[in-house]
Amino acid sequence: MQVFKFGGASVKDATSVKNVTSIIQNYQDEPLLVVVSAMGKTTDRLQEITNAYVKGEGDAFCLLEKLKQEHNILLHELFEVEVHPIYDEVANAFVEIEWILEEEPQDAYDYLYDQIVSMGELISTKIIAAYGKHIGLNTVWLDARDYIFTDNAYREANVDWEKTEEKIRREIPSILDEQVVITQGFIGSTSENFTTTLGREGSDYSAAIFASCLNAENITIWKDVPGVLNADPKWFEKTELIPELSYTDAIELTYYGATVIHPKTIKPLQNKKITLNVKSFVNPSEPGTEIKTTNQKLPVPSFIFKVNQVFINIQPRDFSFIVEDNLSYIFNQFHQHRVKINMMHNSAISFSVAVDDTGENVLDLLENLEKRYKVTVATGLELITIRYYNQETIDRVLVDKQIIRELKDSYTCQMLVKKRED
Ligand code: ASP
Repeated sequence: MQVFKFGGASVKDATSVKNVTSIIQNYQDEPLLVVVSAMGKTTDRLQEITNAYVKGEGDAFCLLEKLKQEHNILLHELFEVEVHPIYDEVANAFVEIEWILEEEPQDAYDYLYDQIVSMGELISTKIIAAYGKHIGLNTVWLDARDYIFTDNAYREANVDWEKTEEKIRREIPSILDEQVVITQGFIGSTSENFTTTLGREGSDYSAAIFASCLNAENITIWKDVPGVLNADPKWFEKTELIPELSYTDAIELTYYGATVIHPKTIKPLQNKKITLNVKSFVNPSEPGTEIKTTNQKLPVPSFIFKVNQVFINIQPRDFSFIVEDNLSYIFNQFHQHRVKINMMHNSAISFSVAVDDTGENVLDLLENLEKRYKVTVATGLELITIRYYNQETIDRVLVDKQIIRELKDSYTCQMLVKKRED
């Protein structure tokens, strides 16, 4: 059996949905489970609605109304009939959000976020499953929350693999013998049946969970790029497609920030030796990239750029050394504020990191660290990572840049840089 994953960009409008169903049609003779994200930028929009509701940043009902109307227009474009049960199904899903918004926000932000934002995937999959049926495919909608079980770490829930695997194995294979399963990425549920999410861009990970539990032959992530490239086309005019990639290189690249695949996706697949294909939904017959067990090194150096970085240098006020007790306190602070470290370095009396400038949580973290340490901060920096670097590639990215910190091992070079001022 195979698992497919379609992201938001692949289902952003009626034409895209039609394209996705035509790809499914070509593969539907084999058992197939399809994981789908929310349509277009719906997750961002639902996040705005949550912020309006909980933090008073805007009019939540007004924002929701707009999103509802857009989904409604899409439904009419797709189904081209006035009466179809999908209109009510989608309207009911929006009513569920309205019910939440009508109450005063009592619960924690992260919990409310998951209850609201998860609706994006529930709605998109209902539409795709219904449209599949409408054009004669044998699609069935499954609620991923009945299969993916997590703890209650809302917004970044951890999967209970044992329970999840048992339920998926017991129920899904017989359904796959008959029908193409359409289900949601990104979402799961707690043992008390509350909805959780697995972290932003988490639908890739959902697809890997299903693939691993079902011992799939392979999984395909359909993207708007031809496969895994050696750099994001946003930064480089000329990029190269990597036809074959080892799990290890893929893990390293995503860990350092390559956004083509969610970092948590690869490990479960590597453990079961399930091949991961990254292909273009625009040119579905092109081979794309195959990620599998191979000793093949990357054929070309790969570049990862992360802008908007903050450099934080932390020093004990009493000039004690940066050793285990200080480090464990510092790491705990990062963990509690959900600030992910992109690069770190320590010396005898200082510990420094680069992190994404995500605003409020970084400011709160700094405030806390300052209570105990001398903290210096620099913003507006860029983190460049080169996998399989050489001097030529380093020179290429350093034009007009000044290095603030550099870390190298045999394969990877990371440089935190700022624009040269002279
Ligand atoms: N819709 C979610 C997000 O935008 C999950 C995903 O698309 O992977 O983060």
